[in-house]
Amino acid sequence: MAADSDVNISEQLDALRERFVGKTRQQLQDIGDRVRRIRDEVPTETDLDEIYQMLHRLAGSSGTFGFHGLGHRARDLEQQVKPMVDLAKESRLSPESMSAVIGPRFQRAVASLNSLLDGGAQALKTAGGRSPVPQTGIPSGAREAVRLAVVWQPGEDAAERADLCEGLEDGGFSVCNVALEDLLPRLASEELLVVLCHDSLAEVVADQLQIFASQPGGHLVPFLTVGEDDGFSRSYDLAAMGAFGTFTMPVDVPALSDRIERILSEQESKSGGRVLIVDDDLELLEHYALILESAGLSVRTIPNPDALLHALSEFDPDIVFMDLRIGGFSGITLARMIRFDARWIGLPIVYLSSEKDRSTQLEALSEGADEFITKPVSDNYLINVSRVRCYRARQLDKLISRDSLTGLLKHNLIKQEVHKEYARAKRSGYDSVVAMIDLDHFKQVNDTWGHRTGDQVIKALARALRAKLRKTDVIGRYGGEEFLVVMPECRPDDARRILQGLCDYFAMQGFDTEGGQFRVTLSAGASDLLLYPDAGMAMEAADQALYLRKSSGRNGVTLAGDRLP
Ligand code: GH3
Ligand code: MG
Ligand code: MG
Repeated sequence: MAADSDVNISEQLDALRERFVGKTRQQLQDIGDRVRRIRDEVPTETDLDEIYQMLHRLAGSSGTFGFHGLGHRARDLEQQVKPMVDLAKESRLSPESMSAVIGPRFQRAVASLNSLLDGGAQALKTAGGRSPVPQTGIPSGAREAVRLAVVWQPGEDAAERADLCEGLEDGGFSVCNVALEDLLPRLASEELLVVLCHDSLAEVVADQLQIFASQPGGHLVPFLTVGEDDGFSRSYDLAAMGAFGTFTMPVDVPALSDRIERILSEQESKSGGRVLIVDDDLELLEHYALILESAGLSVRTIPNPDALLHALSEFDPDIVFMDLRIGGFSGITLARMIRFDARWIGLPIVYLSSEKDRSTQLEALSEGADEFITKPVSDNYLINVSRVRCYRARQLDKLISRDSLTGLLKHNLIKQEVHKEYARAKRSGYDSVVAMIDLDHFKQVNDTWGHRTGDQVIKALARALRAKLRKTDVIGRYGGEEFLVVMPECRPDDARRILQGLCDYFAMQGFDTEGGQFRVTLSAGASDLLLYPDAGMAMEAADQALYLRKSSGRNGVTLAGDRLP
């Protein structure tokens, strides 16, 4: 699957390279014609500027398509022409100084660009390989059920292993016991998201994970260890091996579950992200888009700045890459314009340009951009910059929008989600459900077992919601021990079944404390968005249904409109 799509991407990259070669051949011809005109006839004003622009573009794009020699030579020539372009702008360019630069040597150098193009194309062909697709390091599929591999030494601490596995299963994880010698083949054949190993196996497991990461289609799977020694020196060694955490026996399962959830959500936000690229070089745009998409990022390309503002609000990017010159537009001015709107004040803007002149770069940066990257940029560098920036943007966004205890959407945002889904459902006419979920007699839990234990129960419910609902469902903490869930494209009867499953599942879960074990149940009320004149009334109906359920027995689901005994 991954290999097929890699072949597909490299075919597309090859096709783009062909287009680059064709277009460059034409441009080189054009440069040659203009150079001749400057030397033999009456040069026009634009000849010099056009030559400069084309060389500038070649200097920035050739490397990306594998023509490094061509890129360097074009850069040399560009630097020779630049002072004349500056003089011409101030009308101080004399015909003598022009012909001093654009002489026979320059003409020969331009001709040599052609052979660099042909030679490069030949070399890339005989090398035989397709364009390499950068390894992205993160699995493409988002997670369905969280599958954990537990790797243990046979016979060692067997009781602890059994307790641990049971606790994790209870917490909604799918646990696979894996023998050390099976780890590598199973990593390759199954989607194991996290490895948990006995401390005594840490070195070998770390090695196996490294081997898997270096294989085609492999990636770095995070691992945590369970052992007896949590002293500084052992922890340091484990950190050096790349461990993501270490726990001592008997394992605090809720703390471990938390750690795993955090690792996974960090990985998830590392892999995603929305990148907007503004550049008028079509082949380059497509190349960047292919590379970033193959790394799991969403990309929108804009060859014409007219479409910029519309794309910003519609696509809501995490980062913008901006060329310095896009047709007749200046990237610096566009960056300023983006900041006109308060929504985009914090949006990272990164210039991606062939401009090497340090003072121009600094001037560009002073207009509120965040970074300047000089073309040509390597594929991996582009991916890394995009990932890091998107990741930071998402972390920041999460801090603002997510509840710190559960990581779920905060009150306002989940309400917004209901409104959005309401509009979508009305437009398309499918059923969508909104549900209110509330822990039963939760006050007693706090009173009996303490507030901290109460917090653990709330977290466990958040985990259960994530584990049992569909990936497309949106979950929020509405307040205290009350949660709100949006279930798009879901018939009320299906919602009832799913929510009842959640109730049953949660009621089975035991919470251990020093004073003993206890269980908690929950109640849910739900309504079909389509049946109400607005989203607020649908939420109100779900809340009423919850109230009915509370007064008629708790631990179950009531749909708005149900007749209860
Ligand atoms: P019912 O079954 O009718 O819902 O009863 P209840 O006790 O769950 O409902 P009530 O609204 O009387 O009490 C809710 C309790 O939830 C009171 C409040 O202190 C507690 N609570 C709200 N937020 C948190 C929290 O973040 N952590 C903890 N530990 N408790 C919380
Ligand atoms: Mg309650
Ligand atoms: Mg309540």
